Formats: sequence, structure tokens, C-alpha cells
Amino acid sequence: MTTDTNAPAVPIRATVFVSRWPNVPAAEFPGIPDGTFSPTTAILISGATEIVLIDALYLKDDVQDLGDLIERTGKKLTTIYITHDHQDHYLGIGPLKERFPDVKCVALPHVIESMKETMDIQTMQWNLLFGDACIPAGPLPEPLEGHTLYVDGSPLNIIEVKQADVHPTTIVHIPEIDTVIAGDSIYNEIYPMLGLSTPSEWQDWLDTVDVVEKLQPKMIVCGHRRPDGDDYAVETMIAQTRSYIQDFIAAFPTAKDADDLVATMSAKYPNHANLWTLQFSAINAIAARDGAQ
Ligand SMILES: [Zn+2]
Repeated sequence: MTTDTNAPAVPIRATVFVSRWPNVPAAEFPGIPDGTFSPTTAILISGATEIVLIDALYLKDDVQDLGDLIERTGKKLTTIYITHDHQDHYLGIGPLKERFPDVKCVALPHVIESMKETMDIQTMQWNLLFGDACIPAGPLPEPLEGHTLYVDGSPLNIIEVKQADVHPTTIVHIPEIDTVIAGDSIYNEIYPMLGLSTPSEWQDWLDTVDVVEKLQPKMIVCGHRRPDGDDYAVETMIAQTRSYIQDFIAAFPTAKDADDLVATMSAKYPNHANLWTLQFSAINAIAARDGAQ
């Protein structure tokens, strides 16, 4: 066998798989509006021979399709990394581990602790939202030692950030291709989920947006984006995530009720998709505000 030493090294690359855009809730439930759940991403980082998957989705059909895509690459899935503790990003590890038995599933230790603490409530919520279409709760990731993963020798740096739609939460920076896998810290033309955090945590989320911006990525893959979203519209994504959180913070204290907050935010961001996320966020935020009075 001869080796062509002039052949360029195969660069690593990021390939985005976007989930379906399901209707929710699966069955009527008081207080949960009818609508849709944001399309969710899983990202293949591939080198010459290996793949690291970032986030693992949650719907049975999507995870089947995602596994098919991984298989078609002909490369070895070595690792699945989970950015944060929300079941739309990790339930797929059960079927993927069955299909790719050698794969290692990892997350940061306190993300795993948070998964354990919220397992029962999230399982109830996901079942309510998605019914049988959703993968039942199964295995959890193992604790990642250190903060670096490798794809064919290229580093993927795990960065813990203070807040996204929840905390603890992380992003992945891939310096070789100037890419950030943002988890739910940045949203791309989708209404951000602000209904799972407090007003002071929304301020912390703004700090996270600054962290992503300082990395000066050329590509940002958000946890939620349109099926045809543009992962290179970096400046727009950062600017819109920042201004959206600021505008929500500004509108929240004086909104008459959840409908009023929805009307204000949807008028300011008419091109954002998945209104349900705004409705859910407004209902929860206003309930917390008025309950605290
Ligand atoms: Zn999410």
C-alpha cells in the first residue's frame, strides 16, 4: 500500500439533522396551548473515519432517520455528547446505543445530576406533549472527564455557560471549523424558550450570548431552528437572540396578561417561527409574576 503524502488531510465538518415539527400536545391538557414544538437539531461532527454526535433528539421516527444517516456515512460513531438536560435533546441515546453498541454517551457531571432530578417531571411532560411518538426515558449519559472530545484527532471544546433556556448548560466550540454548537443558548428564527427560567436568569442568558459572540464563529448550529435555517447567519442569530431576550425583559413587567405579552413579542418578531414557544413562555412567566405578588 502506498500513502500519498501530498493528499490534504480530510477536514472535519458539521452536518445538521433537523427533526420533524410535531403538533403538541398529544392529548388536550388544561393550560397547555395547541401548537407545535420547535424543530430540534442533532449535529454530526465527522472526520475521515469518525463521527461525534451532538445531541440525540427524542421522536422515534427522527432517531431512526438520524441513525440511518449516520450509518450511510460509513464512518464510526464513537461518541454522543449531550449539551443540556432537556429530553428533546437526549432521549434518542437509548435507541442509538442499541443500534451502535460501541458508542459512548457523555455529558458534564452536573448536567447528568440535573437529568436525574428532573427525570420524572420531564417524562410526564414529554409524554403529555408527544405521546407514543416519543422515545420513553431510558439510559442516561456517563460523566465526561475533562472538557474535550476528539474527532479523528481534532478537538471539540465543551464550554459550560451560565444560562440558556435552562442551566446547567453547555455549548461546543470546534476551533478547526470556527463552529459553535449552541444547544439552546442561541435561537435561529424560532421563538426562544423563556418560560423555564426566572427574570434574573434571563439576564444571565444575555451573558451567554456574549460568550458565543466572543468566540467569533462562522457557523452556529442552534438547538432549535427552521428545517431550512441558515447556520451561517451568525450575526443575525446573535443580534436577534440578544434583542429578543432584552425585549421580553422590557415587556414582561407591564404586560396585562400572557396574551398581551404574546401580542407585543410576536409584533416585534413576526418572522420568528413556532409561536407555541412564545405562548408557553408567556403563560409560565406571567403566572410566576402574578403568583409572586
Ligand atoms: Zn431544546
